[in-house]
Amino acid sequence: MAAITRLLKPSSPISSLLKRSGSTMVSEIESPRPNFSDPKASRNFQWVFLGCPGVGKGTYASRLSNFLGVPHIATGDLVRAELSSSGPLSTQLAEIVNQGKLVSDEIIFNLLSKRLEAGEKKGESGFILDGFPRTIRQAEILDEVTEIDLVVNLKLREDVLVEKCLGRRTCSKCGKGFNVATINAKAEDGRPAISMAPLLPPSQCADKLIIRADDTEEVVKARLNVYQETSKPVEDFYRDQGKLLEFDLPGGIRASWPKLLEALNIDESEDKRSALG
Ligand SMILES: [Zn+2]
Repeated sequence: MAAITRLLKPSSPISSLLKRSGSTMVSEIESPRPNFSDPKASRNFQWVFLGCPGVGKGTYASRLSNFLGVPHIATGDLVRAELSSSGPLSTQLAEIVNQGKLVSDEIIFNLLSKRLEAGEKKGESGFILDGFPRTIRQAEILDEVTEIDLVVNLKLREDVLVEKCLGRRTCSKCGKGFNVATINAKAEDGRPAISMAPLLPPSQCADKLIIRADDTEEVVKARLNVYQETSKPVEDFYRDQGKLLEFDLPGGIRASWPKLLEALNIDESEDKRSALG
């Protein structure tokens, strides 16, 4: 099965990849047209999920990875796992995190390569990457490390997204997250109507809810702008390769999930094995 040996490309060390990742790399990359619309085509699941903060990317990526039987790899989790281990990078990482610095591309790629290698040994037949790549540079390096078959770009109307972020609450006692926003956005300017039910807390949490300090309208909008600026080139990069699937979320997870499976040409009744084709 080709997918297994494909997880990690036999490649030069990460450090030399990082040095090579200049702007010229883009033109060296072919533009294959993957056939993700043909259900009979053999399916590979080396997928990336893109989406702005608050869109619910982690939820969909994790649900889909369970459904397909491939791991959901979030780079935040890789960093946390390394930090709590006695791995070779844990001391270096702890220092970076304690100083509030950003984890470098080199470290992220080291962790990711290690994770893909371990997956290959275990016989994993793919992955869903979440939170990565964030920048065009990371996307170019990722292309050298592994093959990406499909990139799902989750999108949600901006007004709805802001409303949703403003409805976020956390229980100060148990730490669980909820959402008190009831969204009923009317159709306008060619945009469809969207309804989303709130995720209300149980009674023992109801009087302990707190709002994150950075969930103000101003900060949420600024965060979206930053995201859009850095993600646009990443989207273009995958669009040029014919790998980008744009998906407008039609509502909450109940409304969106079947539509997402449909867009991905996955039969909801398929079990994990047959879905792996
Ligand atoms: Zn609670």
